[in-house]
Amino acid sequence: MSSENPTAPADAALRRAAKPTIVYPASTMPRPDMAALEAARHTMVKIHEVVVPPRNARAFRLSRGQFFRIVSIEGPQVGDLNLWNADDLSERFFSGKTRALHATHVGAGDRLWSTMPCLRPMVTISHDTLGWYGWDSDGAGIHDVIGTRCDPYTNLLLSGTGYDFCCHSNLSRALAAELKVEPCAAEHHVHDVLNVFMCTGFTKDTHQYFMKASPVRPGDFIEFFAEINLLGALSACPGGDCSATHSSDVAACYPLKVEIFEPDRTTLGTWTWPSPSEYHRRHGTPA
Ligand SMILES: [Zn+2]
Repeated sequence: MSSENPTAPADAALRRAAKPTIVYPASTMPRPDMAALEAARHTMVKIHEVVVPPRNARAFRLSRGQFFRIVSIEGPQVGDLNLWNADDLSERFFSGKTRALHATHVGAGDRLWSTMPCLRPMVTISHDTLGWYGWDSDGAGIHDVIGTRCDPYTNLLLSGTGYDFCCHSNLSRALAAELKVEPCAAEHHVHDVLNVFMCTGFTKDTHQYFMKASPVRPGDFIEFFAEINLLGALSACPGGDCSATHSSDVAACYPLKVEIFEPDRTTLGTWTWPSPSEYHRRHGTPA
C-alpha cells in the first residue's frame, strides 16, 4: 500500500478495535470420521506408484476410497498439486474456498474442496509427517493454499524472460499427455494448487507472500483419502525446496513420488461419500 495514506478519522482507533470473527467456524463444518480413516489406512496396500521427475509433472488416477501419498525422495522438494473429478474435469480443486474454510495452510483432518456448484470434499488429508511443524516464528506453515503456482506468464511479466518448466507448464504438459491433447488445449484446466511441502507465510510488516526453505526430508509424506474418483497431477517445482528462487534452472531439484494405496473396503462400510451441493442454483430467480 502507498505510504501516503489519507488522514485517519477521529474514531480510527475505535473502528480498528472491532473484534475479529472467524468467517467459517470449524464447529459448523461437517467433520470427517478420522477414526474410520485410521482403521482403513492400517489395512491399505500399495498398488501403484509414479515418480515425478524434477522440473516436470505426472498425472495419476485413483478411485474413491483409495489413498495416495506424495513422498519426498532424494532431497527437499516442493510439489504443486492439482485435482479434478476424474469423471468431469469442470469440477476441480478450489484453493480459495479451502483456504477460507480451513486456513492458509492445511494438514491432517482438513479437506480439499471442489469448485462450485459441487463444493464438496475431494480428499481428506489422512496423515502428514510434517504435522509437527505448526507455525514458526516467522508465521510460516507447511502445505499452503495461498500461492497459485509458478507460471511462465508471471515470469515473463516480472523478469522479461521465458521459462518453460514452471509448475503451470509442467502440469499443462502432464494433463495434455493424459488427455492426449496439446498443452495449450489442456492448460485452461490447470488451476490454483496445493503447495505440498512448501513453507510460506506473509511478512509481518508488509503482508507480502514469502517462502523459506522447506523442512521436508526424504521419507516425509502427506497422505490423502479420495472422497470421489480423482484425476491428479503433481509438479516437482523448479524452485526445489523453494528457499531462494523459482521459475528457473538455478535451484537444486529432486523427484517426488506418488504412491497409491487400496484399503480393505470393509473398514469404510459406513463412510458417507460426498454428493454435489444440494443448492437449487436458481440464485434468486423464480422456481
Ligand atoms: Zn512451482
